[in-house]
Amino acid sequence: MEGNVSRTNLLDLDLKGLEDLAVGMGFRPFHGRNLFKWIHKHGVVDFESMTDLSKALRRHLREEAEICVPRLIDEQPSADGTRKWVMELGDGQRVETVFIPEGRRTTVCVSSQVGCSLDCSFCATAGQGFNRNLSVGEIVGQVWHAARGLGEAPTNVVMMGMGEPLANFDAVVTAMGIMQDDLAYMLSKYRVTLSTSGIVPNIYRLREVSDVSLAVSLHAPDNALRDRLVPINRRYPLEQLLPACKAFIEGDKRRRITWEYVMIDGVNDSIAHAKRLVRLLEGIPSKVNLIPFNPFPGSDYRTSLPEQVEAFRQRVLRSGIVAVTRKTRGREIAAACGQLVGRVLDRSRRTVPLQSSIVRVAAS
Ligand code: SAH
Repeated sequence: MEGNVSRTNLLDLDLKGLEDLAVGMGFRPFHGRNLFKWIHKHGVVDFESMTDLSKALRRHLREEAEICVPRLIDEQPSADGTRKWVMELGDGQRVETVFIPEGRRTTVCVSSQVGCSLDCSFCATAGQGFNRNLSVGEIVGQVWHAARGLGEAPTNVVMMGMGEPLANFDAVVTAMGIMQDDLAYMLSKYRVTLSTSGIVPNIYRLREVSDVSLAVSLHAPDNALRDRLVPINRRYPLEQLLPACKAFIEGDKRRRITWEYVMIDGVNDSIAHAKRLVRLLEGIPSKVNLIPFNPFPGSDYRTSLPEQVEAFRQRVLRSGIVAVTRKTRGREIAAACGQLVGRVLDRSRRTVPLQSSIVRVAAS
């Protein structure tokens, strides 16, 4: 498995990629399909156990390919059933994945980058700086682990772990495609949710290539406040973000945008903010998810009082917009929203990747 850089990691390939690989080795597309099922449906990563593949194909695979899953190095259970998994990647970086059971629903919260290149002031991942994008295999590998741990595929995936998924566009789209594939994890478009801080050009691009559900980290009802909390707003302000979100769900009456709104005491949680929020979302099928701020070391913000969160929620509800307060899960193991840190080696690369991903988007 080690030492040969030219080997293809099969976890990086979707169904089409594996079919092409099989053909490239002189075999048939259905061999690729079988391989895909072995890896994702049955969780088998050892070619010798793939008994319906011919000996000749297995030899090719041994020589030219590998199946490299992130190494699960730590599991921290929380009293409420939430579990945080620490995954170590080939280069020693670590990311965190959170598993959240709730009745019959099992949700996996998946990371898309080592650290994050955005700099949201209320998020612990931001303080980690940024190192690199995760590969397809490193993203889908988190779901692979969840399925192994559970004995079956999780019912929901949220791209809400470390990183900004739309800044790692291609890998995230391919990984989500594998999650949705009937031969792999079989998740419907309503059960895979991508959360973004609002990289507007990539919201339009996503609509062209994927039908997953969209959540947007809004956190403020006006540009002045959002510029402070979610700095990417300075590049893509609300007057660009909202039309992009509207366009994303256009044509599908069952769809709506989930707006995430972290409730920070005295910052964005007044009734006046709620009223402005309602006005802002007028005409967009919406669900508002209120997330009481989760504290982390080094942060000065405080969590809104529960009665303040409830008053805010009632004000939004009164206008006919669904609003729910997200239950805080796994806070004592630092697995709650905004608390994931992993281990980012060489954190100095904050600005470069964001710039380059945006330049690339603008050029495409
Ligand atoms: N970068 C993407 C994916 C992260 S999703 C995005 O911004 O959407 C994680 C969610 O938790 C986001 O809505 C994020 O804004 C929110 N969050 C971050 N820090 C938080 C904190 N300390 N308390 C509560 N929610 C937080």
